[in-house]
Amino acid sequence: MSVYEQAQDFARAHILPTSAECDATASFPDEAFRQMAAHGWFALLIPEELGGKGGGLPEHAEACLAFAEANPSAALCYMMHNVALRCALTHGSEAQKRRICKDVLDGKFMALAYSEFGSGTHFYNPQIEAAFGPEGVTINGAKSMVTSAGKASTYMIITRSEEEGKLDNWALPLATPGVSFQSSAWNGLGMRSNISCPMLLDDVKLGFDARIGAAGSGQDQLLGVVSIFFVTGLAAIYSGVCSTLGVLAAQHAKSRTYPDGSALSHIETVQNHLAAIYVRAAAARSLTLEAARAEAEALPKILAARVFSAESAIECGRLAMRVGGGKAYNKALPIERFLRDAYAGQVMAPGVDVLNVWLGKILTDQPIP
Ligand SMILES: Cc1cc2nc3c(=O)[nH]c(=O)nc-3n(C[C@H](O)[C@H](O)[C@H](O)COP(=O)(O)OP(=O)(O)OC[C@H]3O[C@@H](n4cnc5c(N)ncnc54)[C@H](O)[C@@H]3O)c2cc1C
Repeated sequence: MSVYEQAQDFARAHILPTSAECDATASFPDEAFRQMAAHGWFALLIPEELGGKGGGLPEHAEACLAFAEANPSAALCYMMHNVALRCALTHGSEAQKRRICKDVLDGKFMALAYSEFGSGTHFYNPQIEAAFGPEGVTINGAKSMVTSAGKASTYMIITRSEEEGKLDNWALPLATPGVSFQSSAWNGLGMRSNISCPMLLDDVKLGFDARIGAAGSGQDQLLGVVSIFFVTGLAAIYSGVCSTLGVLAAQHAKSRTYPDGSALSHIETVQNHLAAIYVRAAAARSLTLEAARAEAEALPKILAARVFSAESAIECGRLAMRVGGGKAYNKALPIERFLRDAYAGQVMAPGVDVLNVWLGKILTDQPIP
C-alpha cells in the first residue's frame, strides 16, 4: 500500500468525521490529531533509526494530499508540523534532534511562527525585536498568523541574527514564559479549523541551545528545507482540495434527479464542468507528486505545482458550485467549505503572485530572496 493509500484510509476513518463540525465551530481537529499521533503520522519524516517512518518529500506530499481530501485545515496543521520537524532534523544539533524526536514520538507536534504583521508575505524579512546577550536572545513583538496556535508544543520562529542582514531560526517551546496567543483574532474565510492567530512575545528569553543550526543560517534553512517542504506541502493540500471538489460535484450530479427521472449528470454542460474539474485535479496531483519526486530542477517544478494547484482549487470550487447550484450555495453540500478553504491557497506566503515572480526569476537565472 502506498503512503497515499494508507493516509487516505486513515483520513476517511479519523479526519473526515469531524471535518464539517471543526469548520463550523472554527475549532482545532483535536481528535484527528490524537489519532495521527497514535497511528505514527507525526513521525512520518523521522528516520527509521530514530524510531520514525523514514519518509521524505514524496511521502510528505502524499500524506498531505490524502489528509486534505478529508479536511484541508487539518492537513495544513499537519503539513506545518512536518516542515518544522524536517527543519529540526536537518539543521538541529544532536541534542535538539533527540529532544524533538522524543517529543514527537510521545505524541507532540510542531508549528511555524514566521509571518508578521509588518513583513506580511515577505516573512524572510522579520521586524520582531531580538536583543542578543551572552546566554541567548530576548524576543519582543508579535507573529501574525500561527497555525495550530496553542496546540503545537514547539514553534519554529525566525528573527534577525546578530550579524547584519542574516536570520536565525529558533525552536520555541509552548510553555516558554512570555508566549501567549490572541485566539479571538481568528475568523478566517476558510481553513477555519487551523485556528491560526497572532502569537505575542513579551520578553521571551531563549538560550542559544534553542537556535536551530549555526548563527545566521536561518535564511539558508528557509530557502532550503522550509521552502521545499512547505511549498510542496501546500501544492499537495490544494491538489487534495481539487480532488474532493470533483468527487462532491460528481456525486451531486448523479444524485440530483428531476421529476421526469433525468439526472443533472445527463446534462452535457454539467458533464463538461465535471470533466474540467477532473482534468485540473488530475493535473495538480500529477504535477505535485512529480515535483516531490524530482531529482533535477526540483525548485521550479515545486513552485509550478504550488501555483497550479492553488489556482486550480479556486477554479474547481467555482465550477463545483455551478454544478451544485442553489443547494451548494445554501451550504447543503460541503462544496462551499472546500471553496472557502481553496481561497487560502493564493494568499498564504509565499503567495501565488510572489511565487510567479520567483519562478520567472529562476527561469532566467536570477536569484530569489
Ligand atoms: C490559513 C492561513 C494559515 C496561515 N498559517 C501561518 C502559519 O502557521 N505561520 C505563519 O508564519 N504564517 C501563516 N500564515 C500567514 C501567511 O502565510 C502570510 O504571511 C500572510 O497571509 C500574508 O500576510 P499579509 O496579508 O500581510 O500579506 P501582504 O504582504 O500584505 O501581501 C498581500 C498580497 O500582496 C501580494 N504581494 C505582496 N508582495 C508582493 C510582491 N512583491 N509581488 C507580488 N505580490 C505581492 C501577496 O502575495 C498577497 O497576496 C497563514 C495564512 C493563512 C491564510
